[in-house]
Amino acid sequence: MRSTAWFVGSCLVVLAAVALCSPMMTTSVQAWGSLGHYMVGAIAQGFLSPAAERGMQQLLPESDGLMGPVASWADSFARDAFRWSPPLHYADTPDWACSYFRNRDCYDTGYPGQQYCVDGAIQNFSTQLVEGRAPLSENVAAKFLIHFVGDIHQPLHVGFRGDAGGNTISGTFQKQHNRKLHQVWDEDMLDKRLREDFGRDNSTYVDYFMSRLSPGGDLHPEIGSWLSCPGSDSGRSSIAPLGACSDAWASESIALACSAAYVDEEGRKIANGFDLQDAYYHFALPVAERQLAKAGIRLAKIINNHFDKQQAPAHSPPLDQRTRPQRPIKKLLEL
Ligand SMILES: [Zn+2]
Repeated sequence: MRSTAWFVGSCLVVLAAVALCSPMMTTSVQAWGSLGHYMVGAIAQGFLSPAAERGMQQLLPESDGLMGPVASWADSFARDAFRWSPPLHYADTPDWACSYFRNRDCYDTGYPGQQYCVDGAIQNFSTQLVEGRAPLSENVAAKFLIHFVGDIHQPLHVGFRGDAGGNTISGTFQKQHNRKLHQVWDEDMLDKRLREDFGRDNSTYVDYFMSRLSPGGDLHPEIGSWLSCPGSDSGRSSIAPLGACSDAWASESIALACSAAYVDEEGRKIANGFDLQDAYYHFALPVAERQLAKAGIRLAKIINNHFDKQQAPAHSPPLDQRTRPQRPIKKLLEL
């Protein structure tokens, strides 16, 4: 979801107040939509180091350190409380550019001269955590970071400026009328998947991802490449606080938007009045799910990088050799 327009300096009072407010704690399906964000946070939770788990319990006391339940906070409470935050949920590129360059694409007309988009927001909030100087609070910075790492992996959150990331392209998806293409990716495909294949149970869906990411799972061999941070190119910064390579992640997303979101299973451009059926769902869903898995792994790495520098012992045994009876997700490997 996107709407109008961040300027931290003028929002300090509001932001400090928000840090005291309760986040959305539900794990039910709502309208990346809340299910997608929950999945990213829950997947990431399974890959936290011991130091990161302890750190997150302090950083997110409202959810006992769990990221899934607070992952949609930036789409709910914060969207209204922080009127500067909506443009930070996405980035726009020129139509059919199919490439992302921070210096070209990360801006908002309401905030000239700043890196004002989802990529810039990830850089900002990860830097705040690194430097320990969050102007609002580390709690707020962490919740924004958790959310924006999810958003940047939804291909249409790095979409075309001319159609607002698929928000002005409407049609029918699986007999549901008046759906925006952006909504199909934010909500509709994942809700259908949860409803039809996982009995509407978020935990079962999380287990499915953890199985695919565990040794022997089809996504496990990809994890190493997901964590690599490509070097600079023209217009791209080499700075990646906590390993948050958000410019490269934005580039991946716009490429996927061009190859799997703005076009159907036969490569035809999706226009107003679309009627997307099973063929598109089966073509696009695997892309969406891989992006959720990537986002979870990358979020875990950011959080691990932050806390391991501060707290980790010089040597830790592999995660799966430890016993954590109170954690809801089985640990699979060390990132
Ligand atoms: Zn968002």
